[in-house]
Amino acid sequence: MKKGINTRCLHIDENEENFENYGSISYPIYQTATYAHQGIGKSTGYDYTRLQNPTRNQLEKVVANLEEGLDAFALSSGMAAITLLMELFKPNDHLIVESDLYGGSIRLFDNISKKNGIDFTYLDCTTDDIEKHIKENTKAIYIETPTNPMMNVSDINKISKIAKKHNCILIVDNTFLTPYFQNPLNLGADVVVHSGTKFLGGHNDTLAGFLVTNNEEIQEKLRFLIKTTGAGLAPFDCWLILRGIKTLGIRMEKSQQNAIDIANFLKEQDVVTDVFYPGLPEHKGYDIIKKQARGFGAMLTFNVDSKEHAYEILEKVRMIKFAESLGGVETLITYPTTQTHADVPEEKRLKNGITPRTLRLSVGIEDSKDLIDELKNVFKSLS
Ligand SMILES: *Cc1c(COP(=O)(O)O)cnc(C)c1O
Repeated sequence: MKKGINTRCLHIDENEENFENYGSISYPIYQTATYAHQGIGKSTGYDYTRLQNPTRNQLEKVVANLEEGLDAFALSSGMAAITLLMELFKPNDHLIVESDLYGGSIRLFDNISKKNGIDFTYLDCTTDDIEKHIKENTKAIYIETPTNPMMNVSDINKISKIAKKHNCILIVDNTFLTPYFQNPLNLGADVVVHSGTKFLGGHNDTLAGFLVTNNEEIQEKLRFLIKTTGAGLAPFDCWLILRGIKTLGIRMEKSQQNAIDIANFLKEQDVVTDVFYPGLPEHKGYDIIKKQARGFGAMLTFNVDSKEHAYEILEKVRMIKFAESLGGVETLITYPTTQTHADVPEEKRLKNGITPRTLRLSVGIEDSKDLIDELKNVFKSLS
């Protein structure tokens, strides 16, 4: 019987006699570039760390298990994972992608993938008619849900049916909710993307990325690609992410509760004009996220009444850090316009609702009262 997700963050291979590695509770770091052989054709299963490394294997097994996939691939960052994934496509292939994606993904598609002959159509996958935009050469639909930073929610199962009907694969960036709250493969996706830097690692200290699939053909191609291109995650970083994942459940629960508290607080503030958090019943994606996920996550975006106030808030926060990134135990506040989404053309940014008054919070695991007190004091002191 399948164990609960908190257990699976800590234990896999329960049927094995698990006294390998001298019974180490913490999986060892195999800090080696290469492996000795006893003779021709007598490999230990490990030949060279670009191809395989036991610590990376262990991490990949854990992540595949959490996402309920056939296999997972650990890469040196989220962007390295998405770059590797783009190698599945060839010139003249067409992809439909969510327009409100992480800015780095848009930068990759527009500046690198396009140059390599891949064509993109950006849609609001929460409302646009995706099917109408599918062409003969459309090979994939690429979404994030909730999106970064506007927290739009799209219906994974519904989109997966459109993808299947037209022989496309569905790729879902699951960074915001993590497998703790959402399993896109079970909802019909073919590939899940993660920035492991964020909630999976969870401590704002390591970069990592993942691809997870339940499709054997994609699995084989990705194994070839990771071996050939060489962006596999280093052993020590694999160990850090393994350690982070052990507490994924309690971190997600605590930071989500804090996010709910802060969303409700922000709603009442005069300086705040809009709050985008899919755990608020008035959020337009509330019903869909309730249906397809087990939680709402710890990311929230809000607008204040002026750009000047947005700047002032960023300058005045102290415990809450004005910094890029998300998903760690420390609460961060981000300014998408000049940080995560700076390379998205202004017109596109504004169309997606990212304005100079937009701030994004990645809520950590501090005491929510202290976070709210800090925000209260900052708002009180605004000119
Ligand atoms: C951060 C992020 C990425 C990129 O990951 P890196 O680890 O920073 O390379 C991709 N997608 C989303 C949703 C992200 O938040």
